[in-house]
Amino acid sequence: EHLANQIAAGEVVERPASVLKELIENAVDAGATTIDVTAEDGGLSSLRIVDNGSGIQPDDLRTAFQRHATSKIATGKDLFQIVTLGFRGEALPSIAAVAKVRCISASDTGGLGRLIEIEGGQIKREEDAGAPRGTDMTVKELFYNTPARLKYMRTVQTELGHLSDVVYRQALSRPDIAFTFAHNGTTLLRTQGNGDLRQVVAAIYGTAAAKAMIEVSAEHPDYAIEGLTALPVETRSNRNAVTVLVNGRYVRSPAVVQPLLQAYHTLLPINRYPLSVLSLRMHPSLVDVNVHPAKLEVRFSKETELRAFVEGAVRKALGGQAYIPS
Ligand code: ADP
Ligand code: MG
Repeated sequence: EHLANQIAAGEVVERPASVLKELIENAVDAGATTIDVTAEDGGLSSLRIVDNGSGIQPDDLRTAFQRHATSKIATGKDLFQIVTLGFRGEALPSIAAVAKVRCISASDTGGLGRLIEIEGGQIKREEDAGAPRGTDMTVKELFYNTPARLKYMRTVQTELGHLSDVVYRQALSRPDIAFTFAHNGTTLLRTQGNGDLRQVVAAIYGTAAAKAMIEVSAEHPDYAIEGLTALPVETRSNRNAVTVLVNGRYVRSPAVVQPLLQAYHTLLPINRYPLSVLSLRMHPSLVDVNVHPAKLEVRFSKETELRAFVEGAVRKALGGQAYIPS
């Protein structure tokens, strides 16, 4: 089982940012309204995620770190109807196999919580601990026992960039959750959690960028789209400027980005991306989120229709705007 965990770790835990992604998704699944992330040294020394979600029952804490103990999928059919973000039951055991993990969780308000410490898959300590409702997870010394993996880590700055991407995407997906993100003692992001996407955009990209964005909103029998896109004043050279969410989940999707660019075609300088957040809703049967294990890639069953819909929605949003080249 230990070996299995280490093998699974190779798939789930590529770098600090992949740990962070799994832990934030768990906090979101637990219904948290605040998620506080602290990292040291690009997450390689320490990553801590504190949430105020439903917590883990004291009797379930140990089990949560056991492989496949808790997969949220009940049947094969569920693969096409994924509601919660996590569905493999592999993240916690995989992370605990390659790091030193301390988790304190409490499931009832002001109630008795439980603490567990695991190093390289071995339970070192487990005891009752008073804690507020929610989960406080610290992952230290990632890959300390897998030096080959550690060698692949890039600079602190590179790992920090990946961590920031993960937090930004989650914050953009959930304007109703208050996120904070601090690195080596400096707060890099603070969102309000009041549901206002434009405020999240302002916290990430700055108020000027947020003000320059216009609303995208359209419906179709199969699809709905909501979001913000920048007039051509706010563009970036990096495709990360475009955040695409499908049914609340961040994805990489040329099938959405390309029609967005198409709608902009005469307005947009070559190799520039308009700062945008596009959130698409559709029936789960129209999208296969299981194409890629990291769940970032999706396949749409009616892609041509979707492309036309996205392009039309962005054209409509841009239509009312007079673009004055500077
Ligand atoms: P999965 O999310 O696929 O079920 P994980 O290994 O990520 O698997 O988590 C195992 C289980 O631990 C979850 O199903 C959930 O019951 C519990 N859990 C993990 N993190 C949290 C959290 N932050 N709050 C509440 N429960 C959690
Ligand atoms: Mg999970």
